[in-house]
Amino acid sequence: MGKVAVAAAVIGTAAVVGVAAVVVRQRMKSSGRWARAVAIVKEFEEKCGTPEAKLVQIADAMTVEMHAGLASEGGSKLKMLISYVDNLPTGEEEGVFYALDLGGTNFRVLRVQLGGKEGGIVHQEFAEASIPPALMCGTSDALFDYIAEKLANFVAEEEQIFHQPPGKQRELGFTFSFPVMQTSINSGTLMRWTKGFSIDDTVGQDVVVELTKALKRKGVEMRVAALVNDTIGTLAGGRYTHNDVSIAVILGTGTNAAYVERAQAIPKWHGPLPKSGEMVINMEWGNFRSSHLPITDYDHALDVESLNPGEQIFEKLTSGMYLGEIVRRVLLRMAEEAFFFGDEVPPKLKIPFILRTPEMSAMHQDTSSDLRVVDEKLKNILEISNTSLKKRRVVVELCNIAATRGARLAAAGIFGVLKKTGRDIPKEGGEKTVIAMDGGLYEHYTEYRKCLENTVGELIGDESSSAITFEHSNDGSGIGAALLAASHSLYLDDTSSS
Ligand code: ADP
Ligand code: MG
Repeated sequence: MGKVAVAAAVIGTAAVVGVAAVVVRQRMKSSGRWARAVAIVKEFEEKCGTPEAKLVQIADAMTVEMHAGLASEGGSKLKMLISYVDNLPTGEEEGVFYALDLGGTNFRVLRVQLGGKEGGIVHQEFAEASIPPALMCGTSDALFDYIAEKLANFVAEEEQIFHQPPGKQRELGFTFSFPVMQTSINSGTLMRWTKGFSIDDTVGQDVVVELTKALKRKGVEMRVAALVNDTIGTLAGGRYTHNDVSIAVILGTGTNAAYVERAQAIPKWHGPLPKSGEMVINMEWGNFRSSHLPITDYDHALDVESLNPGEQIFEKLTSGMYLGEIVRRVLLRMAEEAFFFGDEVPPKLKIPFILRTPEMSAMHQDTSSDLRVVDEKLKNILEISNTSLKKRRVVVELCNIAATRGARLAAAGIFGVLKKTGRDIPKEGGEKTVIAMDGGLYEHYTEYRKCLENTVGELIGDESSSAITFEHSNDGSGIGAALLAASHSLYLDDTSSS
């Protein structure tokens, strides 16, 4: 056959296939469509499977990566960052301190008055604002000016009793929940943005310097005494109320964990050994990845199309920013390939991130007999109406699959940390481990939380599981940062204060 003939034959075949597709599409009766939809759900479920044996492999991979990350800089996908926090709050902290919590969609400014040994937290007040999306991808100065401005307003409105004595600066703990290479308790450079932020000129800069310059521009007299992230803040806040807290996990827009490590188990630490013998490690576990992780085509596509492809793989499977989006992607495929929502693909369903995790959790946890919430969410968010109860059940099932996988993987991560620190096996003296938990996902997504806690129990085993408890450390990260500002205050020996 000559070239022209081959081309003609190919075109001919293509035409036949095209016609056939149209015919198949027209003939795809509802039963065929339903079967195809069910097959897509089944496949998704299988690929998301997290049997116990797999979770143990993932936990073991986590401990291996923890060792590697502690051994050397760049030794692992897990940065295992040294926080320079070697003494957690004791409860004796005293005075008025501030915190600024930036880590995702919202940020908070706080003022905490600490009453010393018996006094506890005498007073606390906070203000919250969301970060305008434009600032998430703008310039460093624009973002930090915005934050400093809010802090300026907060301070300007405060009562006289909170004013510092003359000659004494206000002190602040800065909770900045992005990967930072810390160089002391109050300095550190941003390694990269995550969670939808992308501001080139901040990367490689000292974020305390950036904040301090902005505070100056806005006329706020304040010293940044401690730089932490939400996990370290949560660990510090948790320890203030509970002596047995040694791990903190955040499940919010993103996810991360921090824990107390023996300083001697950190080969890359070259400083003097801290008196406590301990150092808090910021794992940056959102960036964990392992060949054992159950990753589907949907996850792969989500990653490729994200702002940080190839990074934060564990976060993309477990955290609030992504769970709803994973469900949307499966629904879109069902609409395209199984005409799940009728002959047309609902246009809204094509919009990335339109289905947010709070809406997903509301659908998942819809207890009404006719799944009214699912119906309402499909209508309001995706403009899909007149779904049958049977279809709404499928939507709930998809939410369940994605949330269960996320929660069980997060549990495997926790089990990995428990193993690394020898806390997976009960100790003679009945030592307890309290895990301080925070983040909107953990707080509000009850099914997710229950699944996570049950799975940790399942992995630990019956005898040991009573030694592990979870503590919701509500807004612990902000208070924790203020506590760390207190314990790293310039005026610690200044008895004239407060
Ligand atoms: P951030 O992580 O941005 O600092 P939060 O800890 O408050 O803030 O977590 C907010 C995230 O928690 C949201 O992005 C969302 O993914 C998740 N979330 C909030 N409310 C709910 C909810 N009702 N159900 C499920 N997830 C929720
Ligand atoms: Mg947060």
